[in-house]
Amino acid sequence: MYDLILIRYGELVLKGGNRKLFINTLKQNILKITGEMPEVSFDRMYLTYNEDNMRRLKFVFGISSFSPVKRVNTNINDIKTEVLNQFNDDLKTFRLNCHRNWKKFELTSQEIIKEVASELFDKKENLKVDLTKFEQQINIEVREKYSYVFSKNIKGLDGLPVGVSGKALHLISGGIDSPVAAFELMKRGVRVDFLSFITPPHTDEKTVEKVEKIVQLLANYQAGAKLFQINYTDLMNYIGLTSNQSYKINLMRRSFYRIADLLAKKEGYLAISNGENLGQVASQTMESMDVIGSQTSLQIYRPLLTFNKIDTIKLAEIIGTYQISIEKANEACELFAPKNPVIKPTFEHANNLELELNELIPLEKEAISNKMSVKRFKNKLQ
Ligand code: ATP
Ligand code: MG
Repeated sequence: MYDLILIRYGELVLKGGNRKLFINTLKQNILKITGEMPEVSFDRMYLTYNEDNMRRLKFVFGISSFSPVKRVNTNINDIKTEVLNQFNDDLKTFRLNCHRNWKKFELTSQEIIKEVASELFDKKENLKVDLTKFEQQINIEVREKYSYVFSKNIKGLDGLPVGVSGKALHLISGGIDSPVAAFELMKRGVRVDFLSFITPPHTDEKTVEKVEKIVQLLANYQAGAKLFQINYTDLMNYIGLTSNQSYKINLMRRSFYRIADLLAKKEGYLAISNGENLGQVASQTMESMDVIGSQTSLQIYRPLLTFNKIDTIKLAEIIGTYQISIEKANEACELFAPKNPVIKPTFEHANNLELELNELIPLEKEAISNKMSVKRFKNKLQ
């Protein structure tokens, strides 16, 4: 019945060069995610109608909505025939919508609606127009050569196409927050690659598996992603020797950021991002984030900074990461956490503790050169 999918994109506030970049990136992303290059026409794109494309478009950021449509020649008879085709005559109330983008068409929108409606009234007795409580709505879009008839509207992911805003290196753990934070960044057009610190044998295979499953799921939204994994065991054990145990997590986080900073600069990432949430734990107070964040000169993006946990969980469920995140596994930080972690650390004390650990910086450099592996994830949408 349908032959095309009509794709609409929002963010119409974008102007000039930005708009061009938006459209070109969206086109390429649709190609990467569905395997088909869409046809671009004015402020719309069109893709072949099939169930696979319908499902895959739900993974493309930058699309505001899409509809399966039938394309007909722009003349009133062909439009009428198609509306009748899509009309479900088991139903009693309907509404017609008409947009006339091509102003030179011989009939106005109101006249088109009248003509088409009278055809429907002829076909079925007791049929009623109801503008608010309609059982079905049929839309007609009149353009110069072709017109489009459709009755379904499916919400897209909205936001900006992945890639238009540059790329970030995202700190990912097996928790609930960091995957959702990555999703939020993608939504603003950031391409996200991942960095995960693992500490075998304290963390088991399961932890690594969880992170990889999460990255695979998120990679589907940008047709691929890289995961840098760093074996952090020696560093964690070494930091564990600090003379002030309450600073352990803080020192480990500072070390994460120094390593992320080196890697991000080497690989051309403009920002480091994470799933931090203000006040959630000792390492996420304003003081802690300050002392930790000082270890990189790059921007730090924290999309979940002000989220409520309930909202984060809801999103994680929608994205599909929640079920993976709650699988039981040994997380590095949980095993390492001191009884009373410092809530208001100071720069001075953190610096002094690091001076006592004189192997720290060399070990961090070594971790990047000898203890890092890179995995590439491809789009795996069915
Ligand atoms: P999450 O659900 O993301 O694990 P959380 O509330 O458990 O968040 P923390 O464990 O304190 O928070 O971690 C804060 C942030 O630090 C995480 O969101 C993540 O970005 C980063 N992070 C934590 N552990 C690791 C790790 N092992 N490797 C890489 N990044 C990590
Ligand atoms: Mg965590």
